[in-house]
Amino acid sequence: MTIVKDIKSANLCIGCGYCASLVGGSMVLDDAGFLVPSNDSTALSAEEEALVKTSCPGIRGDSVFTQTDVEPGARFDQMWGRYFLASVGHSTDRDIRHLGSSGGALTGISNWLVESGQVDGVLVTGYDADYPIGTRSRITADLAEIRQGAGSKYCPAAPLAGLSDVRRGEGQYAVVGRPCDIATLRRAINAGDPIGKNIKFLLSFFCAGTPSDTGNLHLLTRLGVEKSEDVVQLRHRGNGWPGDTVAELGDGTVKTCTYNESWGGVLRKHTHSLCKICADGIGEQADIVAADAWYGDDEGYPVFSEADGRSLIIARTTVGRDLLRHAIGAGILAVDDLDVRAIDQMQPGQLARRRQLGVRISAYRLMGHRVPKYRRAALKQYSRGQSLVRKIVMFSATIRRLLRARR
Ligand SMILES: Cc1cc2nc3c(=O)[nH]c(=O)nc-3n(C[C@H](O)[C@H](O)[C@H](O)COP(=O)(O)OP(=O)(O)OC[C@H]3O[C@@H](n4cnc5c(N)ncnc54)[C@H](O)[C@@H]3O)c2cc1C
Ligand code: SF4
Ligand code: SF4
Repeated sequence: MTIVKDIKSANLCIGCGYCASLVGGSMVLDDAGFLVPSNDSTALSAEEEALVKTSCPGIRGDSVFTQTDVEPGARFDQMWGRYFLASVGHSTDRDIRHLGSSGGALTGISNWLVESGQVDGVLVTGYDADYPIGTRSRITADLAEIRQGAGSKYCPAAPLAGLSDVRRGEGQYAVVGRPCDIATLRRAINAGDPIGKNIKFLLSFFCAGTPSDTGNLHLLTRLGVEKSEDVVQLRHRGNGWPGDTVAELGDGTVKTCTYNESWGGVLRKHTHSLCKICADGIGEQADIVAADAWYGDDEGYPVFSEADGRSLIIARTTVGRDLLRHAIGAGILAVDDLDVRAIDQMQPGQLARRRQLGVRISAYRLMGHRVPKYRRAALKQYSRGQSLVRKIVMFSATIRRLLRARR
């Protein structure tokens, strides 16, 4: 069995598209409603197989930092990883701030990188005109397309498949992707993938999981849409912070629900199995990572009522630090410095995921599931201070979920 078929059969393929980009292959939806490489993408040379073995997020979950490997000048937090700068802010372009998922930080930076000639294009993920509840990722220098790419798509996406075009040409690019996409590309570049010479910046966002196409069909039902073919345009969020989920139908009807109803009520329950044991939903391998800088209520839970968009913006590398300073200096982003402990209140979900990770992995292993390779020291670091009772509760809940999935 080829390496890619093996990863797929172990249900460890999140559909980043990296292997497909090596051979210019395509990505298709599988029976569970997730993107996977098509059979024409699985025939790789020995050299390409070696790159996939080193890079694929279904094999590697260990590209996270611990205190011992943080270089001088970098700061480190046991939950939020390595960073050089931590801030909250937003794009100074009012339209981009409004269009963006949170403060439009990623689109603001992408737009400026192209406009100022620092890169020849940015890899962005927009909705697919031929399948409006799905995505299409591609490198573009079209500023209108970069703006249209603003906003999170809570459905399958294969950003790195969009690198095929770069492999055939020259130029310098920025890539926006989920943390697993970005970590895959970073590992591939470090392992000698020649594409490294074309990639200048790696940008990411916090991620709690990729929901399936099946989950999105459930979402349409929840919205009162009978047939997915009736949808001409979907937006999961953005156009405000967080902004509603909006489906526009061919007959002009518009169906909406809140972000909380769509993500919390439907899509969260349809995320990929690998996402439940993901070691890095916080973009540790990105140069810059953005997230929702949620305001918390008195109990410490995020409030999802509409507000002016605000992104958490973290520079994780010296390249990211210089880029962020440059973007602030050029008036592209307006930011305030942030004490990293404040992220605990903004992102309680990500905090809980990290704390529970070791226990979840143990449950997967006990149930005979293959898992990626992890860093033992990092898992220990995340779970420090967790009570035994909490661990037992999470372990049992994971076992129950895995048993239900078998039925
Ligand atoms: C599946 C998913 C899960 C998320 N989970 C969390 C979370 O747990 N906590 C949190 O704070 N934030 C999460 N986000 C990110 C959050 O919604 C915002 O993207 C983030 O706050 C950055 O906002 P922004 O306004 O700077 O980005 P924008 O300016 O809106 O730019 C978003 C960028 O992300 C790219 N993009 C959008 N969807 C995808 C996708 N599916 N795959 C690859 N690239 C994409 C676009 O091309 C665009 O460049 C998630 C996003 C997604 C897609
Ligand atoms: S490299 Fe990406 S698309 Fe290929 S098998 Fe691994 S997760 Fe799937
Ligand atoms: S939760 Fe992790 S594995 Fe899942 S899509 Fe997000 S970054 Fe990738």
